[in-house]
Amino acid sequence: MLADRVVVLGGGFAALETAFQLTAMVDPNRLHLTVVSDRDHFLYRPGLVGLPFGAAEAPLHVPLSMALDRWNITRRLACVENVDTERRIVHTNRVMPIHYDHLVIATGAQAHPHGVPGLAEHAAQISSPGQLHRLGERFQWVAHNAGHGRPQHVLFVVPPGTVWPGPAYEIALMFDTWLRRRTVRHQVRITFATAERAFGEQLGAGLHRILADEFATRGITGETDLPVTEIAEVHTCFDDGSKLHHDLVVALPPHAAALWHDGLPADDRGFLTCRPDRSLVGRDDVFAPGDAGDFPVKQSFLAVTQARAVAAAVAARITGRPVDTGFEPTALCVLDTVDKGILVEAPLTAEGLVRVDHDRVLSGPAWRAAKYALARYVPMRYRHGKPALPRAGHGLLTAARHFLER
Ligand SMILES: Cc1cc2nc3c(=O)[nH]c(=O)nc-3n(C[C@H](O)[C@H](O)[C@H](O)COP(=O)(O)OP(=O)(O)OC[C@H]3O[C@@H](n4cnc5c(N)ncnc54)[C@H](O)[C@@H]3O)c2cc1C
Repeated sequence: MLADRVVVLGGGFAALETAFQLTAMVDPNRLHLTVVSDRDHFLYRPGLVGLPFGAAEAPLHVPLSMALDRWNITRRLACVENVDTERRIVHTNRVMPIHYDHLVIATGAQAHPHGVPGLAEHAAQISSPGQLHRLGERFQWVAHNAGHGRPQHVLFVVPPGTVWPGPAYEIALMFDTWLRRRTVRHQVRITFATAERAFGEQLGAGLHRILADEFATRGITGETDLPVTEIAEVHTCFDDGSKLHHDLVVALPPHAAALWHDGLPADDRGFLTCRPDRSLVGRDDVFAPGDAGDFPVKQSFLAVTQARAVAAAVAARITGRPVDTGFEPTALCVLDTVDKGILVEAPLTAEGLVRVDHDRVLSGPAWRAAKYALARYVPMRYRHGKPALPRAGHGLLTAARHFLER
């Protein structure tokens, strides 16, 4: 019997989780798996928020060779250019096209800073490792100036169109704790302005309440429903006509799909239109787990739960067995504030809306420890060619929550 050719595009959470779940679900003789990524390493993005405050970057990277070679997964280091779904071929910047029977597009989202005039030129951005290292240098200057008696104003902005504003909240709260430990907080005014109608709106009212409390307790001015319209060198303009002067502006850039596909169904930002099982509308043989798809909440935990459902759907098509795992959307993440962690667990509808009164928010130092345990656990699993999630359930973080609640 010929093996089915499964081609996975990307090298992030959704791609690796799909690949490792599939190797666990399908007899190796029936599967020829290829992973195509434009980078030779996996990056654990949730760990990036520690970089401005001196955390090491190296543990966040996992070489794909180490992860994939354990299973004889064919690895292609190439940039995907387009997909011909009629002929079932992937074209890359390398000469040889890649043929598939089942295609998984897990190329994620990409920052589009030019969506806000002046953001690319004047704001410190929160996206890539390099940007977060540079942000750390800018924070050092703020602390230096504050230490020499020069009052500073640091403005955090979340414009419309950002996919997950969590890192901006984390960095603002971490920055506050970091300044306090340097005894210069009194010289630094911090403002947080978001286009969202509530803080952390995507994850429900509980998160808004706890973030509003944190801002009030820490003396951070928080503004909701305030879309930024332009960022200049020393001031930022907002939709309501107001203007704020700043010494440093820190911004999450708006995001769009990393790869735009002609002829595939997608929304106006290029995110692929999926059915609940993350297969593409009108294409039973193409799937889009993670940030590449149109699920409106974009987080690593959702990317891996979608990937597990995609692997189950592809395995069912190969083996003829029924699908045993679907995508049950639950957002789960921990925000780090340096002095503690804030756990958010929000069951979502198929449309990505929080199920009212089902969201849970817990905070305390143990949650920070859980976040760092996870930051070790997930890269370690991928380094060993293993999926982050078990075949069913939500694994380590949920187990930790049950334990700590007791
Ligand atoms: C600073 C920051 C902090 C975050 N913190 C958290 C957090 O605390 N908790 C949380 O849940 N989420 C967090 N997120 C969001 C989370 O990282 C994403 O939701 C997650 O990475 C999505 O996984 P993915 O596999 O879909 O996409 P990605 O992780 O972005 O992976 C996409 C992959 O595709 C590859 N690729 C892209 N284009 C091409 C191409 N043309 N050809 C070949 N390969 C290509 C990329 O190199 C990459 O390997 C954070 C994001 C950022 C930026």
